[in-house]
Amino acid sequence: PGALHGKVALVTGGSRGIGAATALRLAREGADVAVTYVNGKEAAEEVVRAVQSLGRRAVALRADSADADEAAGAAGRTAEALGGLDVLVNNAGVGVLGPLEGLSLADVDRVIAVNVRGVFLASQAAAARMTEGGRIITIGTCMTQRVPGPGGTLYATSKSALIGLTRALARELGPRGITANIVHPGPIDTDMNPADGPHAPDQAAMTALGRFGTADEVASTVVHLAGADYVTGAEFAVDGGHAA
Ligand code: NDP
Repeated sequence: PGALHGKVALVTGGSRGIGAATALRLAREGADVAVTYVNGKEAAEEVVRAVQSLGRRAVALRADSADADEAAGAAGRTAEALGGLDVLVNNAGVGVLGPLEGLSLADVDRVIAVNVRGVFLASQAAAARMTEGGRIITIGTCMTQRVPGPGGTLYATSKSALIGLTRALARELGPRGITANIVHPGPIDTDMNPADGPHAPDQAAMTALGRFGTADEVASTVVHLAGADYVTGAEFAVDGGHAA
């Protein structure tokens, strides 16, 4: 059996991209997996089938991280469906980039609701159900380490809050044997940031490796952390050297 045999994981935003790759890697290590989505029902169900084909149990939950009740509720729904909750991957996020003067109050509220409040509430609800060995892994961004140009005010603000949350969760939950860590992806080829997009060559050039990463390359670090016992409150760049 894999390192995560018998564990139950919840991946928010698991229908596509980094979340979907993470769900599959978790399943390959033996975990049963719940994924949340908002619009991508078909895609989420495809992830569920892929997990099931690996011999693990899986469930797709429609849960909008922007909605407080839905963000908090996914942990309980996971525990009900799969019998517990050991690993939370806070992956769902939105990237609203653009000039400071063009960002509306609605943009600010939406990004903070999904990227910060939703993560806080999901972590709170998950922590309430986790026992010793619980893991909270949050997806930040390389833009919390280095903002390479204009347009990142709102996104960097939201994701930087998650570093403070991660450290504080590590302190609060450490006595219970629960860890919290954050992974900072660089440019990763997904629907959010396609490797053939207009700004892709510039992003690739900002990395030391000179290329985009894959969702699976981020997932491998997330899954490593899901199995790591003595790592907490830490930040991990999976950014091809973007911050180097
Ligand atoms: P994608 O846009 O490819 O996928 C986003 C996923 O999140 C989808 O499964 C989507 O579901 C889900 N989602 C979006 N909004 C919500 C919401 N309100 N509630 C629940 N689920 C939601 O993104 P990536 O895989 O690229 O990004 C994943 C994470 O990684 C994000 O937090 C992002 O900020 C971060 N990141 C990405 C980088 C990149 O270059 N790609 C770089 C650094 C960080 P649905 O299918 O229903 O829309």
